[in-house]
Amino acid sequence: MDSVNGASHSSESQSTASATQTQATPSISEEREEEIRTELAQNPQAVAALDQLVADRNFGQLSEEQKVESLNAFMSAPNAATATYLQGAAEVSLNPQATPSSLTPDAGTLTLDGVTYGIQHGNLVDAQGLTVGTIRNDGTVQLASETAARSVYSDISTRVQLTEQIGTQNRTLVDLHAADPRGRLTDPNLNPEVVDRVTAVIEQARREGMNMRVDTAYRTFAEQDALYAQGRTAPGNRVTNARAGQSWHNYGVAVDLVFNNANGQPSWAETHNWDRYGEIAVAQGLEWGGNWQGLVDRPHVEYHPGFDAGDARNMLQSHRQGGLEAVWDRMGIGQIP
Ligand SMILES: [Zn+2]
Repeated sequence: MDSVNGASHSSESQSTASATQTQATPSISEEREEEIRTELAQNPQAVAALDQLVADRNFGQLSEEQKVESLNAFMSAPNAATATYLQGAAEVSLNPQATPSSLTPDAGTLTLDGVTYGIQHGNLVDAQGLTVGTIRNDGTVQLASETAARSVYSDISTRVQLTEQIGTQNRTLVDLHAADPRGRLTDPNLNPEVVDRVTAVIEQARREGMNMRVDTAYRTFAEQDALYAQGRTAPGNRVTNARAGQSWHNYGVAVDLVFNNANGQPSWAETHNWDRYGEIAVAQGLEWGGNWQGLVDRPHVEYHPGFDAGDARNMLQSHRQGGLEAVWDRMGIGQIP
């Protein structure tokens, strides 16, 4: 940017200067930045965090290698908290005596393994007011009672809210609620490979600052019939065209994910980034209901290798004969005996 401005001010031939600039080979950090922008194009929230990082004065002074290192670190959890941390890290690498406040959250809360801590300037404070560990804006948690550090992004049941004081304002950097409060993913009727893939989707969404949660997963035939009745013989809107045995939910290979609102309650609001969620799900090999013609079902993902979305009804016979295991075996995703 600077060189373009410099050239246009000093050169009589502005068009020539611009042309040279466009043709200039991008540096390795610029190339990496472009790759990241492509990868995150569907997540404006993450792109805004990247903008914040690369616009930072200290980041601009890093060497090419350091910039690439910083960009790669950003991709481990591309969100505003990570960007804030990396700005502080850049400052420290330029001036090792610096102790930037952006390395640690100023305030917030953390719930880990069912225990809730308050956050006070990077310290974790327990219910008795004792400091029992530390937390950084890159999501690293070190409890005094544990030898190894953890990451807030490695466990989808973690509740984490990190805020940074900017001037007199408190800005929320990341705000994630527990992603499976009802334990739907631990239902033994849900296929283990589906659990793995859906968990990976949730983890990636959370790293990108998307506060997602499981709504429903396995559904019995009776539950499916009750849902089918909704909007037909029972009150409510029609939400499904599938009767018992016609939905992949009945075979433990479909899950509905929604977003958490600010209070940690399920939300289907249009304003959430459903498109990026769908993109992440498809990258995990799942079929996304947001891509369907007809009844678009954006929370819905399903996994049935070798079969089509409409094939669920063809699993009835296998199910009758051998239950879920027989259905999973037909798709080659059964448990290894
Ligand atoms: Zn569904």
